[in-house]
Amino acid sequence: MRGFLSTDSMVVQVKSGWKKDEPLEKRIVILGAGPTGLGAAYRLRELGYRNWLIYEKNDYIGGLAASFKDDQGFTWDIGGHVMFSHYKYFDDVVDKLLGDDYLEHQRESWIRMLQRWVPYPLQNNIRHLPKEAVLECLVGLHEAARNTHEPARNFHEWILSTFGEGIAKHFMFPYNKKLWRTPLDKMDKSWIAERVSVVDFEKALNNVILAKDDTGWGPNNVFKFPLKNGTGGLFGRFLPYIEDNLRIYADAVKIDLEQKRIWFADGATDTYDILINTSPLDSLIGKSSAPEEVRQAAGNLISNSVYVVGVGLDKKLQSSKCWIYFPDSSAPFYRVTQFSNYSPFNVPSGDRERFSSFMCETSFSKDVSVGKETIIEKTVKGLIDNRMMEPGDEKLIAGTYLIEVDRAYPVPTIGRDRALTDIQDFLHANSVYSRGRFGAWRYEIGNMDHSVMMGAECVGSILNGEKEAVFES
Ligand SMILES: Cc1cc2nc3c(=O)[nH]c(=O)nc-3n(C[C@H](O)[C@H](O)[C@H](O)COP(=O)(O)OP(=O)(O)OC[C@H]3O[C@@H](n4cnc5c(N)ncnc54)[C@H](O)[C@@H]3O)c2cc1C
Repeated sequence: MRGFLSTDSMVVQVKSGWKKDEPLEKRIVILGAGPTGLGAAYRLRELGYRNWLIYEKNDYIGGLAASFKDDQGFTWDIGGHVMFSHYKYFDDVVDKLLGDDYLEHQRESWIRMLQRWVPYPLQNNIRHLPKEAVLECLVGLHEAARNTHEPARNFHEWILSTFGEGIAKHFMFPYNKKLWRTPLDKMDKSWIAERVSVVDFEKALNNVILAKDDTGWGPNNVFKFPLKNGTGGLFGRFLPYIEDNLRIYADAVKIDLEQKRIWFADGATDTYDILINTSPLDSLIGKSSAPEEVRQAAGNLISNSVYVVGVGLDKKLQSSKCWIYFPDSSAPFYRVTQFSNYSPFNVPSGDRERFSSFMCETSFSKDVSVGKETIIEKTVKGLIDNRMMEPGDEKLIAGTYLIEVDRAYPVPTIGRDRALTDIQDFLHANSVYSRGRFGAWRYEIGNMDHSVMMGAECVGSILNGEKEAVFES
């Protein structure tokens, strides 16, 4: 798999914040050039620090936020990536890197369920369901609003007490089972905060009786997407700022925490004073000299995997939807992104009059398998059965593309936070800062904006003693 490593030429400007006459005795090594590692590297460069290196095992940068072009000329991300930033620093970096080379889209997300199209979120749009389901959802919501449930102890109970039985049965249970591939009663509820939009019973009732749609797709719900090279087109633009200090094809295979030394697969080694790790926390511990109790804690961390199936069509897309959630078993995937809507350059020759593309995500885990040999075929069938493609469109498929994502979602299991505290305390005492989607292993701060911020703030903390607002949240 090759990503976009090169960027359009850019002028590199280094802001001088770091006092150049201060001794630069500490050697900082970053492991991984995904958004977190890139955020850390960019900040080191921005502050004028010089004694650092960033090692990446792939031959491209961007990690899970990289993009790939297939032989037919379709561009694919590693699953649907949408940038909803929470932070000014991140926004400023994006503005600086992308300049005018982006498109802006209004979020348009939908649910396909019970053979219907329902605007997201379901609780505000249940009028689109069959009548019996509307009744079940409203009765359940009313029950939930009366707040008669015992306090929820896990994600399963939280869904029931927040949404009631109807929405739980028709959407929240099947969708979340399909996404996480982990029993919902083994998942915690503390991560939820803003990741799941919750309910206002009166609003739900009003929208049913007054036949109103309530999508939250207002003017503020816009997102930027790089004009070219997919989501990876943004992260490729970090390259001029970091390339002097970047080593690719550098797969760290062993770490001695006492000696502060790393060994790479090709036999090379390096030492560090401070290590910023962005590779998966459990594999870092596995290759390190950590003691047994820390290894056991790392063994409690659970993740799922995803097949991303790209389907490129020799047919114009007539729909303006951005992405669609699929709770029902009529499709293997939990989400499909209409990727050609994000940029004309996601299809061959930038020709959206002729081509369109769907990016379909199906998750699996060690307990729930999904056959790799049949996933493309099942995906195409799911697209047809759910009216994303018309019967007969199979003949218009210009190409398919399969990406297997071994680590896709860090699952917020019960017991995760205890394990993370033990591991992070140990690592910190050994001059290792582990940050990022799988470096910190906290889904609730696992998006691209969180990741870049975690990298940048970690550097601010190391060099200037600043607070790490995202990681400490
Ligand atoms: C299916 C899916 C959908 C997503 N959707 C969104 C979205 O809509 N919006 C959003 O903001 N975010 C989304 N994300 C999350 C986004 O991809 C992450 O926030 C981001 O990529 C995390 O960055 P990171 O640097 O922490 O980790 P990664 O991207 O995983 O980068 C880690 C890097 O470390 C490298 N590495 C690992 N092991 C080693 C080793 N031993 N030696 C050297 N290098 C190593 C890897 O090759 C990789 O480059 C999604 C992710 C997935 C999987």
